[in-house]
Amino acid sequence: MSLPACPKCQSEYVYQDLSLLICPECSHEWDPKSDSDEDTVIVKDANGTLLAEGDKITVIKDLKIKGSSQVIKIGTKAVIRWIKDTKDHQLDCKVDGVGEMMVTAKFVKKA
Ligand SMILES: [Zn+2]
Repeated sequence: MSLPACPKCQSEYVYQDLSLLICPECSHEWDPKSDSDEDTVIVKDANGTLLAEGDKITVIKDLKIKGSSQVIKIGTKAVIRWIKDTKDHQLDCKVDGVGEMMVTAKFVKKA
């Protein structure tokens, strides 16, 4: 039987007590079921900061809008509406002066 390593200190000496997992080294306790939230999509900005729905972001490079001659200028602000679990264009944003757009996370930073 293999238990996951402690998420806090990476100890491998984790043991199970009823539904909880307990780390004897840092005494961290957690419920493995509530930890595996499949809805959580991990998307990071250009600085490696975790992005969440509702976050305000700033575009860090000029982005061409597909099928249009319009460009989202560097420094444009946006709000994340949805985050999708895709390779790029993860962020469904409301962009200032443009409207709804899919934006790639590595081209933005959290405001
Ligand atoms: Zn630990």
